[in-house]
Amino acid sequence: MKCMNHPEREAEGACVYCGKLFCSDCLVDADGKFYCKADVGRVLKEVKEEAAATKTANPNIVINNANTNVNTNTAGGTGYPYKSKLAAALLCFLLGVFGAHRFYVGKIGTGILWLLTGGLFGVGALVDFIVILIGGFRDKANMPLK
Ligand SMILES: [Zn+2]
Ligand SMILES: [Zn+2]
Repeated sequence: MKCMNHPEREAEGACVYCGKLFCSDCLVDADGKFYCKADVGRVLKEVKEEAAATKTANPNIVINNANTNVNTNTAGGTGYPYKSKLAAALLCFLLGVFGAHRFYVGKIGTGILWLLTGGLFGVGALVDFIVILIGGFRDKANMPLK
């Protein structure tokens, strides 16, 4: 078999792109594959376009990740140690004047205040109990109870 470009020369191999036979001068070795010189530019351009497409796809993946994180934070997915609404309600009902429910959700400062003032003279403990029941009570990270 002869080279497609050089009828006087023996072909050394075939272009993997067009399948035609070429001599060693006409073949270009790219990533261990042989291309003819006419095709190697085209193939490299395709590789570049593929890389560009991957680049543009990456920001989407990042955005998706960000969305997932937001979702887990608000919708309560993996990991967050949610405090129990029932436990907070019971602690508030039984020991609310000592601020036990505030200690329980990590609100140490106001817990001590409740402890010293008898749950703001009972009023704070009562308000907290109602707020816990209607689902408005938050822990120290401002996360809802479960
Ligand atoms: Zn070719
Ligand atoms: Zn040739």
